[in-house]
Amino acid sequence: MENARVLEERKEFILHKSDGGCGGNGMKCDANSVSGAVSQRACVYCGARVVLNPITDAFHIVHGPIGCASYTWDIRGSLSSGEDLYRNSFSTDLRESDIIFGGEKKLAAAIEEIAEKYHPKLIFVYATCIVGVIGDDVNAVCKGMSEKYNMRVIPVKSPGFSGNKSVGYKMACNAIMELISKHNQPKQEGVNILGDFNLAGELWIIEDYLAKLGIQVVSTFTGDSSYESLLKSPGARLNIVQCAGSSTYLANRMEEEMGIPYIKVSFFGIEDTTNSLIRIAEALNNTEAKEKALAFTKKETEKLQEFLAKYRKNLEGKKAAIYVGGGFKAISLIRQFQLMGMETVVVGTQTGKKDDYEIIESLVGSNTVILDDTNPAELEKFMKAKNADILVGGVKERPLAYKLGIAFCDHNHERKHPLCGFDGVVNFIKEINRSINNPVWKYMKVEG
Ligand code: SF4
Repeated sequence: MENARVLEERKEFILHKSDGGCGGNGMKCDANSVSGAVSQRACVYCGARVVLNPITDAFHIVHGPIGCASYTWDIRGSLSSGEDLYRNSFSTDLRESDIIFGGEKKLAAAIEEIAEKYHPKLIFVYATCIVGVIGDDVNAVCKGMSEKYNMRVIPVKSPGFSGNKSVGYKMACNAIMELISKHNQPKQEGVNILGDFNLAGELWIIEDYLAKLGIQVVSTFTGDSSYESLLKSPGARLNIVQCAGSSTYLANRMEEEMGIPYIKVSFFGIEDTTNSLIRIAEALNNTEAKEKALAFTKKETEKLQEFLAKYRKNLEGKKAAIYVGGGFKAISLIRQFQLMGMETVVVGTQTGKKDDYEIIESLVGSNTVILDDTNPAELEKFMKAKNADILVGGVKERPLAYKLGIAFCDHNHERKHPLCGFDGVVNFIKEINRSINNPVWKYMKVEG
């Protein structure tokens, strides 16, 4: 496989830094997947579900065959401090006869059943591939049910084939805007956190840091959020965007339509966490919060020095491969590996934008390959060629790494421990060390 040919149509999505780089200009990204390339990227519906599923008291009806509904809380794992309704997944379970005669009646019946049994405030209805093909009028059904039961039933136009995962993010953001845009709120001195899904309680860590600076959180999109908390969001003074790939579109719409400015942040790694806290205080023109941010981040960074020095000895000189969802996470990971004296030799994202790849290119060395929307064959080829010691990715990348005898670190939505903030640095580095330096790799015999 090392010598596997890269598809001709895929070559423009791959940048070899050794070729001199191109300032990100020549690398193609933010496009639909190449047919037949077996992309690692999820579909439009899955992208929409990533963003909306963590709303803890919302009902999610997947209008489509039962298979689509397997994408549910259990493979995302965002935590809640209140309701846990969002852990259920409801499906209209479309069958052959529905494909022929239409699925609108089944959808209406599903909404009625939930309305009468649970009296919900908010239901999202996801249109999947087959609904896009047969042309059910999902909007009309949702509108009719909203009026009949006096609740919000919001359609999410997400047939899997209608684009790529980024389109799903956009459809989810449109659904959120439909929910919140009619709710004028009095302005208050606080922030909304966008693009954090409270995996392993990470949102609570960020909220705790902001509380230490005296900064109030008005609403969160969408980790640990609820119908009521989302409606308060138009009153915030600032939006801070953690997962830029999924939530920049929402931030732009909120800026244009509600006058809420935004800044992009990242709470992965010491450098990014420190810079983000200081920048939030600056964006709010809050001198006191800035002073607190400077003091807090200095203290936390100093506390970590002994730990970093100890683990650096184990990790220095190792080579890392990264394949994650968005650019912001890849950038933070490259910086974290640099801190430990490690080199990133392969780095890619599912939904990175031109700006992300420009930053990535500026951070990595000349030995690095940069991949957009890659596939298992390319990952295998380049990880072997570059002698990667560890792959950081998600559930779809894990078996690939293990089959190749390469260590693996899960930095996606299934993990059970937080990797953000200063606490996250400790968890992350310990996991990298445990995986890379595990004696099991000595006993692995991998066919070439
Ligand atoms: S690609 Fe289509 S059929 Fe497959 S999960 Fe996505 S919406 Fe469902």
